[in-house]
Amino acid sequence: MKGFNETRFNSPTVVLGIFLLIGLPFIVGLLVQYDYLQDLEQVSEERLTLYEMTLDSELRKYEYLPYLISENGMVTNFLNRGGEGVPINRFLKRVNTIAESSVVYIIGTDGIVRAASNWDRPNAFIGLDLGFRPYFKDAMAGRQGTFFGVGITRGEPGIYISHPIKDQDKVIGVAVAKIALSPLEHLWKEGGETLLVTDSNGVIVLTSRPSWKYMTLTPLDAGMIREIHAREHYPKYQLQHLPWRSRTRFGFVREATIGAERFLLNTRGIPGTDWRISYLTPQGPLWERTLGVSLTTFVVLGLAVLTRLFLRERRQRQISRQQAVEANHIRDINRKLAQEVEERKRTEHELRAAQEELVQAGKLAALGEMATAIAHELNQPIAATKTYIASCRLMLRRNKLEDLDPTLIKVSELGDRMAKVTGQLKSFARRTTDKNIEFDLRQAIKEALNLMKHQFLVENCDLKLSMPGQPVLVRGDRMRMEQVLINLFRNGLDALQETPSPLIGVRLSVEGDKATIHVWDNGPGIAKEVGKKIFEPFVTTKKEGIGVGLGLSISYKIVKEMKGDFRVANREPCGAEFYVHLPLSKPQQDDNRS
Ligand code: ADP
Repeated sequence: MKGFNETRFNSPTVVLGIFLLIGLPFIVGLLVQYDYLQDLEQVSEERLTLYEMTLDSELRKYEYLPYLISENGMVTNFLNRGGEGVPINRFLKRVNTIAESSVVYIIGTDGIVRAASNWDRPNAFIGLDLGFRPYFKDAMAGRQGTFFGVGITRGEPGIYISHPIKDQDKVIGVAVAKIALSPLEHLWKEGGETLLVTDSNGVIVLTSRPSWKYMTLTPLDAGMIREIHAREHYPKYQLQHLPWRSRTRFGFVREATIGAERFLLNTRGIPGTDWRISYLTPQGPLWERTLGVSLTTFVVLGLAVLTRLFLRERRQRQISRQQAVEANHIRDINRKLAQEVEERKRTEHELRAAQEELVQAGKLAALGEMATAIAHELNQPIAATKTYIASCRLMLRRNKLEDLDPTLIKVSELGDRMAKVTGQLKSFARRTTDKNIEFDLRQAIKEALNLMKHQFLVENCDLKLSMPGQPVLVRGDRMRMEQVLINLFRNGLDALQETPSPLIGVRLSVEGDKATIHVWDNGPGIAKEVGKKIFEPFVTTKKEGIGVGLGLSISYKIVKEMKGDFRVANREPCGAEFYVHLPLSKPQQDDNRS
């Protein structure tokens, strides 16, 4: 079973996990930021347009005012002839109140204010020299003038709109209306907006943040400051630098950092002026949203990873449990198998022992049969030996010594013959061995036939024998091979009991690296009920006490042990035939000569 760590924390999984948990929230955060910035940029552009239009409409709203004043006959009279200024001042005050402008006034061609709506106020404009103001110069040149500037008395920023006052095409003075912009600043502030308007010097003249007012976006050099003071643009202020930095993000968004605050920056020029209006969008919500989405992604992913780990762990446990059950099952099967193998080995051992016993028993049965044959074999030489010995004694008595030796030679020959018979009996009775020596098959056949000779005679059975002239050498136990052959001959003789002219054929042949013993008879053939089971043990058709059905099964085993093959068939028109194929110990040339 795999270990906990091994299954779950291999390095590709860890890398993937880290990427999922950190990389993905980061990427999602970036995407959200990109998307949100696009939205913000759009909104910011729209707002900027709105505020620019507010400013513009403020300007247009009062465009007509100096013109109306310049067209007033009372004004031209006053400028041409001079005289009491009070009526004209009252007229200007009324106009100013109705138009809701900051102040309206009339300047003489010398640049000195002659009449003003604020004539009755402590800081009245009358007598002020405004000849330096660009809007005065424009009007003196016969044009309408517009000027964004800071008032020199109260320092209040505003739009100055001027118009020439003419008498028969001659400019005799200038009518001016000042529109205060501080109400706009209040409006921006109350709306929670961050806006600033800078003039051509980069000085913040309008803003929703009072602390930024009259600060510069770019540091001004000393010469510039002197010049500004000379023109009395911002007479009361120090014009300090507002520390800010700006950069571009994602290629389309400008970002400004002022102090610790970060904004999106949108700037554009105000048409018809040299002022610029900037709309600043605080980035706080952007970062909040990015952080929120990234955190949510992180948490969701974390939960997904945890769930996956949990499910995996559970599955692992299930698999482990299942494996344990299967392992137990396999152990049980193995135990049973081992028991069975043990059982089989014991049975095989017992069977082997039983088989050996039966082989031995089979041999004893054959021995019984042979006893008669041996008795017959020995009776004749014994009788002959007796006769020869009697002859020898007679020869001794008659002193015929010259005839004695040939007779004794015959006695000796008879002795040899008897010794041979008993030798065969001894070798047959011996238990089987695991011998694996080379022997000549012809000898084995001869020996087996020799042992069965008597039976062939008794049964009156003919023999047709055919064998090669030279040795046919195979490896194995010759005694056991003889046993196989004896069994085949015995079976043949048994099968031929009812056959009128019984005949058994034996043919030994060699082909390639194989020797074949072909044993056949002209009996009734293999009974149907025996059929293919002929090599199985205890298959017999013989009467009880005659056959036990082991002969062929033992023979089959012997042939197989010699790495040979055993075949059986029925012959046409009658009889059975057996083929014993055995591998030659040395391959020989095909020779089927008898
Ligand atoms: P057993 O000789 O003890 O019966 P075997 O295994 O030697 O056992 O033979 C099995 C059976 O095969 C015999 O009982 C017989 O029916 C049949 N059989 C063997 N040889 C022959 C044969 N030459 N002709 C007909 N039947 C045969």
